[in-house]
Amino acid sequence: MALLEVRELDKVFRRGARAVQAIDRFSLSVEEGEFVAIVGPSGCGKSTFLHMLGGFEPHDGGTMLLNGAPVRGPGPDRGMLFQEFALYPWRSVIGNVAWGLEVQGKPKAERIAAAERYLKLVGLSAFRDAYPAELSGGMKQRVALARVLAFEPRILLMDEPFGALDAQTRELMQEELNAIWQQTRNTVLFVTHDIDEAIYLADRVVVFTARPGRIKDEIRIGLERPRRADVRKSAEYMAYRNRVWDSLRDEVLKAREEFK
Ligand code: ADP
Ligand code: MG
Repeated sequence: MALLEVRELDKVFRRGARAVQAIDRFSLSVEEGEFVAIVGPSGCGKSTFLHMLGGFEPHDGGTMLLNGAPVRGPGPDRGMLFQEFALYPWRSVIGNVAWGLEVQGKPKAERIAAAERYLKLVGLSAFRDAYPAELSGGMKQRVALARVLAFEPRILLMDEPFGALDAQTRELMQEELNAIWQQTRNTVLFVTHDIDEAIYLADRVVVFTARPGRIKDEIRIGLERPRRADVRKSAEYMAYRNRVWDSLRDEVLKAREEFK
């Protein structure tokens, strides 16, 4: 069995007489150590899916098994990283990274050692005692990543984590995440609307349909690892880009029709 097994997942939002089917009989398996990116038009249910996996949002049907156990509510086996940086402004960088371990009741020396290890991994050891307000957007998101990695979750759930960053910082963060992943080999489910980000980072790109979200297509990305930044200029990369865009294009158009 794969590390994550989602079968026939259903989600309907109800408000009074109105019902919105956000996810429709959605199935997906993710193997241990696999990096899967999900792309899809805006409003197709990507965030809803991640919130359900995180245990923050109930589902209406189907099953989600992580390491063989059904998902029921939030837990430290799933590390969540969203667009908002969500750092505690009153805690130093090291205090923020150590926070999750404090919640888990780890002894102080152990949590500081672990926090230092992960800060080093994201290249921010020198900012150990700084406060979030003193950091750039990219640095804040690196601290947030170190914090979630320090939990040592079985799977990382990332929802457009670089969406609030400017284009240059975003590209650098993608390179950084690739380098970090090369060392940690975490299992990752990464939601983005950015095709380039998806192809550059993932082993497999899953294309969602317009709402209700279903799998339209799955594309294995065979680009060699570790991935160099200039792989984005290669013919092989461009072929993947065209392949994903061909699949996504119709769905983006359908999603736009809905708002007319
Ligand atoms: P995405 O992340 O792919 O852009 P979402 O998962 O945020 O899409 O939303 C999927 C659909 O579910 C949208 O039509 C959205 O309006 C609807 N939706 C999301 N959250 C709620 C909610 N709390 N109540 C009602 N409808 C919601
Ligand atoms: Mg979203």
